[in-house]
Amino acid sequence: MILSEFRNFFIIHEETFEEVGLSSNVYILKSNNGYIIFDTSGHKELLKFLIDIGINKDKIICAFLTHGHFDHSNGAISLIKNNIKCYMSYEDLYLIDFSPVLDINDGEKILEKVNLEVLKTPGHTPGSTCFYSESEALLISGDTVFSDGCFGRTDLPGGNSVAIKNSLRILSSLNIEVLFPGHGNYVTKGGSKIINYALNNAEHLI
Ligand SMILES: [Zn+2]
Repeated sequence: MILSEFRNFFIIHEETFEEVGLSSNVYILKSNNGYIIFDTSGHKELLKFLIDIGINKDKIICAFLTHGHFDHSNGAISLIKNNIKCYMSYEDLYLIDFSPVLDINDGEKILEKVNLEVLKTPGHTPGSTCFYSESEALLISGDTVFSDGCFGRTDLPGGNSVAIKNSLRILSSLNIEVLFPGHGNYVTKGGSKIINYALNNAEHLI
């Protein structure tokens, strides 16, 4: 799977960007007002790539980053250069070397319109953020939890194993079917089961 669609999301699998280095998946929500991008891959020329696959750049509303690691955030460089706003939790500013990025709290109104809410889920990084739709039972999870039941690593600078367990506990209390992680495949059913499994793993392993 390289490019796919699920409901109103267009998904670019990380393998698409293999040639330009380590990358995340990119999730593009098609709303009535335009596109909202979640994670921007490691590709510094992401915008050019998006235009090449037929996305009208004037219809891109903004991008949200689940955290500041380069494999999720480098694509934001090309967006910001073209005056497309990018939002990220300011706790992760220390991880990026480009600007300006806007604080995630300032993007919440944009997300409300598409029934998504910001969930602060520190652990993988201090500013790790998930995006949750209660009505769609859908979670964009970044590197906090993956569809194979693995949780994000906490051994990189800023990682915190106590924090990620708390974050997974919060996620495990939600109703989730669709899980859109930062790496690997996504699932369209059974997200909560996977998150409970990841929480159990984390409680035993870290
Ligand atoms: Zn990461």
